[in-house]
Amino acid sequence: MPILGCVADDFTGATDLANTLVKEGARTVQLLGVPRADDPVPEADAIVVALKSRTAPVREAVADSVAALDWLLAAGCRQAFFKVCSTFDSTDAGNIGPVADALLARLGAGFAPVCPAFPTNGRTVYLGHLFVGSVLLNESGMENHPLTPMRDANLVRVLGRQTQGSVGLVPFAAVDQGAGAIRAAFNALRDQGKRYAIVDAITDAHLRAIGAASDNLALMVGGSGLAIGLPETWRAAGLLAARSDAAILPPAQGRAAVIAGSCSRATLAQIGFARDHVPTLTLDPLARPDAAALAQDAVAWAEAQPTDRPIVIAASATPDRVEALQRALGRDAAGHLIEQTLADVAEALVARGVRRLVVAGGETSGAVVSRLGVRRLAIGPEIDPGVPWTYAPDAAGGLHLALKSGNFGGRDFFLKAFAMLENAR
Ligand code: ADP
Repeated sequence: MPILGCVADDFTGATDLANTLVKEGARTVQLLGVPRADDPVPEADAIVVALKSRTAPVREAVADSVAALDWLLAAGCRQAFFKVCSTFDSTDAGNIGPVADALLARLGAGFAPVCPAFPTNGRTVYLGHLFVGSVLLNESGMENHPLTPMRDANLVRVLGRQTQGSVGLVPFAAVDQGAGAIRAAFNALRDQGKRYAIVDAITDAHLRAIGAASDNLALMVGGSGLAIGLPETWRAAGLLAARSDAAILPPAQGRAAVIAGSCSRATLAQIGFARDHVPTLTLDPLARPDAAALAQDAVAWAEAQPTDRPIVIAASATPDRVEALQRALGRDAAGHLIEQTLADVAEALVARGVRRLVVAGGETSGAVVSRLGVRRLAIGPEIDPGVPWTYAPDAAGGLHLALKSGNFGGRDFFLKAFAMLENAR
């Protein structure tokens, strides 16, 4: 019987969370999209349902998230986890607040801790303010995100604008004292009528303490880091018998490709690095805002490349070019155009023998794997923090996939990813 049921608001985030749980020794399976009532419950300690709800209309995001939770509860999960981005990607309309409100209501619970910290990747929360590396969230480049520009680093305020409930803070001073002090702070905030507590965390030890303090809570809301301490608390409670290892994925074969739709600084740097080493194409949607035509050109280019080396196809652009496309088409239509194009490209590449695919960008990953009909992922070894190789047995007779959150990974991520598969042969 699964212990933890997770609803993730995007596909890369889901993989990141599943990766964390696997590294901590919990058997974890990732399902893509709301499971159907008759889908079998996987043999696992944790099940992560990946949704594409981060930027969906609020009602749709809420409906899908509650449907996913219902399935997880019916599967026997005893605690729920709502996985959001470690940069808290959202707008004043949502979707973090409205979805969390709906999940709490469905669980009949009145309080949840909220913490997006992921210290290994430089995301820390201090006095409610989210830092990315050494700068505040709103100076990290996230203020220019095409869909969810983050212009306020104070998460108490950010979440406060999105929820019907009120938001308090468990500050560093309490978190640093450990699980007992955190539990006491939760109780105090609950007594004050707070629905959420933004919880400071600067180190993994803080996240482990928060996990231990949350064992009796129906819902936790956060980044993958917030799950880091959970398997240990399950072991301590006798719920989890032994440590299990990451799945050993089948040997990789077929062509290798990268599809990038993230416009984050990290992804732009990774594309720049790849350009010096492997064939790399950057699409120009401004010159030709037509998904079918853009995809056709990209596929024709791909067909002309040597088959023994990875190729990179990117829509990713600098903030000025993103803004120009959004001005020309409108924000939603611009995002839709790119996602449609990259999904078309992915489908065509897989039809032409690509079996090792890296996708950069959360929304982009959602669009691509939905198109490829992927419904279930086994989690394999980690490439860079938060990004494992995964394997989709039900797509194209077996497909290796790495779904990379835009801002994750070092400059050499793409080449490193494929080298890892080569070495595993
Ligand atoms: P991240 O993980 O960095 O947030 P996402 O894939 O979630 O990346 O989001 C990036 C968004 O930017 C996508 O919706 C994508 O369609 C959009 N996008 C990509 N390239 C461009 C471009 N050249 N102009 C405008 N929008 C773009």
